[in-house]
Amino acid sequence: MIPVSEPLLDSRALALVQDALQSGWISSEGRYIAEFERSWAGFCGVAHGIAVSNGSMALALAMQALALPRGSEVILPSFTIISCVGAVLEAGCHPVLVDCEPDTWCLNVREVAAKISSRTSAIMPVHIYGHVADMAPLNELARQHGIAIIEDAAEAHGAQYQGRRAGGLGTIGCFSFYANKIITTGEGGMAVTDDANLAERARSLRNLCFRPERRFLHTELGHNYRMTNLQAAIGVAQFERIEEHLWRKRRMGALYTERLRNVRGISLPVERPGVTNVYWMYGVVLDDAVQMDAQEFARRLRERGIDTRPFFLGMHEQPVFHERGLFKGERYAVTERISRRGLYLPSGLGLTEAQIETVCAAVEECLA
Ligand SMILES: *Cc1c(COP(=O)(O)O)cnc(C)c1O
Repeated sequence: MIPVSEPLLDSRALALVQDALQSGWISSEGRYIAEFERSWAGFCGVAHGIAVSNGSMALALAMQALALPRGSEVILPSFTIISCVGAVLEAGCHPVLVDCEPDTWCLNVREVAAKISSRTSAIMPVHIYGHVADMAPLNELARQHGIAIIEDAAEAHGAQYQGRRAGGLGTIGCFSFYANKIITTGEGGMAVTDDANLAERARSLRNLCFRPERRFLHTELGHNYRMTNLQAAIGVAQFERIEEHLWRKRRMGALYTERLRNVRGISLPVERPGVTNVYWMYGVVLDDAVQMDAQEFARRLRERGIDTRPFFLGMHEQPVFHERGLFKGERYAVTERISRRGLYLPSGLGLTEAQIETVCAAVEECLA
């Protein structure tokens, strides 16, 4: 079976983990945390990085650090992972959904503009499958209305928008370093920002809001969102190879697009002018004229030894939110369509050209 994803780990990661172990610094203090934070923030073009236990907690931390008014509205796409809505709710805010674009699968900025109200306090764009959302008009909206932008860049390590890296384009950016992300720490995440006050608040909230002057006196309720030095050691080793990982992803994207361009019945990922797509996962969407849905397509590919994953199912279709009285009766046509007709093909960092050819031949066969 050709897997959907696999990490690329090397002896350097092993050596750094061994060093961390031997140093005795195995919890969240130790030099690899600071080094990983410094490297990653610098890579994103911002001053501060706050490493955390996973990407979902990076989003939760970013929301809490912003201290948005309780009950205020945060606009985000329906087509995303549940962590986004979870972070908004945990911060006591109200999620307001928008549909996504049919080609980039990222949030539709015109719909965002239409849903801004006097209660809006933030927008949370999500860079889907490696393509950056249209940040310039979002930043303009944020400026006009004095609201924050929380980027979910978990799937867009190193992706660029007008020459600047994802994660460093808004008020605060959030990353995941889960095993299938472009660089990994196994489990892990980071929030990055240029705002020193926000970074300081995030650091405190990450570590139970201990106060530097009197450790066990608390004036605010924090969490333990800390990353371990062992995970950060893997992160440092992975970061050394970021350019190679990005090259592999972009090469994979180019090979798939070249080979599948003329196959009838599917649409492929795009790359808008000014954007560098990093093809975290190579998604394809079945045309309406094709009789089968993505589930059937996945079944046929699996029969041919090819593993795939379905696209997200929209947040407005989640029973867990309907039970809470959220998003009932809302419809987002593009999200509904791609969630039923989209899947992603094997996109691992170890994927060979021969495997890509095998996948493409099978895709063609399934559609014939
Ligand atoms: C992976 C991912 C996350 C969550 O990251 P975890 O580390 O798994 O918690 C958040 N947002 C998006 C868009 C993701 O793809």
